[in-house]
Amino acid sequence: MPPRRRRAAPKPSVPKPSPSPLPVNGLLNWHSSAHWSAQERPCRYCGHPTHLRDDKGVPADKVCAEDALADIAGIVQAYSSQGQL
Ligand SMILES: [Zn+2]
Repeated sequence: MPPRRRRAAPKPSVPKPSPSPLPVNGLLNWHSSAHWSAQERPCRYCGHPTHLRDDKGVPADKVCAEDALADIAGIVQAYSSQGQL
């Protein structure tokens, strides 16, 4: 008589995270020298001194600039999903 085998327990279903519309590494290429300045200036969002510049060359911390772009991306996605864009 062959040995009895146990049935494998069903795997718990884990909901897949919805794909983010934003790139994992952020929206801007911060490795570019265009985002760096030797002169410290106040961040346009929080006012802390920073050497970094956003995509328009305006002083902005990486985190502050990415947050601002993420807000805009979220707004664009919301309007797009409603067919308003
Ligand atoms: Zn800032």
